[in-house]
Amino acid sequence: MTELLLHMIEKHKKVTEEGKVANYIPELSKANPTDLGIYVLDNDGNEFFAGDYDKKFTVQSISKVVSLMLAILDNGEELVFSKVGMDPSGDPFNSIRKLETSSRRKPYNPMINAGAIVVSSMIKGVDVKDKFNRLLDFFKLITEDPTLDLNSRVYLSETETGNKNRSMGYFLKSENIIVGNVEEVLEIYFKQCSIDVTTKTIARLGLFLANEGKLSTGEEIITPRITRIVKTLMVTCGMYDSSGEFAVRVGLPSKSGVGGGIVSVIPHKMGIGVYSPSLDKKGNPIAGISLLEDLCNELKCRIF
Ligand code: GLU
Repeated sequence: MTELLLHMIEKHKKVTEEGKVANYIPELSKANPTDLGIYVLDNDGNEFFAGDYDKKFTVQSISKVVSLMLAILDNGEELVFSKVGMDPSGDPFNSIRKLETSSRRKPYNPMINAGAIVVSSMIKGVDVKDKFNRLLDFFKLITEDPTLDLNSRVYLSETETGNKNRSMGYFLKSENIIVGNVEEVLEIYFKQCSIDVTTKTIARLGLFLANEGKLSTGEEIITPRITRIVKTLMVTCGMYDSSGEFAVRVGLPSKSGVGGGIVSVIPHKMGIGVYSPSLDKKGNPIAGISLLEDLCNELKCRIF
């Protein structure tokens, strides 16, 4: 496996030149566009890695998977999905368009920014600090990584430039979908996106989902039903508005982030974390996707 991964990194490294590092959050533009790394964890405790697997990057939209699980634990499935839908939007991740024009009056799904902001507003806690700390602690628990922490530079950069997210937050408040203080909700959302991870952290998140919400000790943290909901939404909405094409090419429940990460789940078997900060036009890691497609051809691990 290690040899296969080394070969894949070498083969797909040149694909990084076809994309661009995100620059709408200024701190993200400092990433090295040619970086490419992968970490694979399996159920027998084996770990395989190659390339820039140990570089730190911010989790960005992959955090939407984590906040969704905690929001369902905190509020129950019914309440969460009364405020956010379960269908692909067909629009870019940061689009505001359908919030006003769609008759459904709620964000299409929890994987686009508008939906994730609603989900963040549902995390329980006595104050904003407590809410974020609960989310961070939950993230540490399920990835079995106590070192996870906020990247303050990225957080400040997001909060200074995140006006589109801010406008969605206030619109959602005006529709009574968000209750409470919008600036506090956005603080949680921007902070959850700004948690530093490595490919190993997100591979662990993938393995946790692969094992239907169980830690490596066998302890169940969330129910198989909640993991099924999350993994289904990852398939249909996890790769923004190219989720359909990704499902054909790669065929694994996955979630990308504009920091360059992708988490992929091979049910009951493996968790995969990829880092590839050079993004395609839809905001997905360009070389990460071609690498995963090739790897799934080799491993014959597609779920479809
Ligand atoms: N923090 C980013 C934003 O809100 C996350 C986007 C992403 O990774 O898709 O724009």
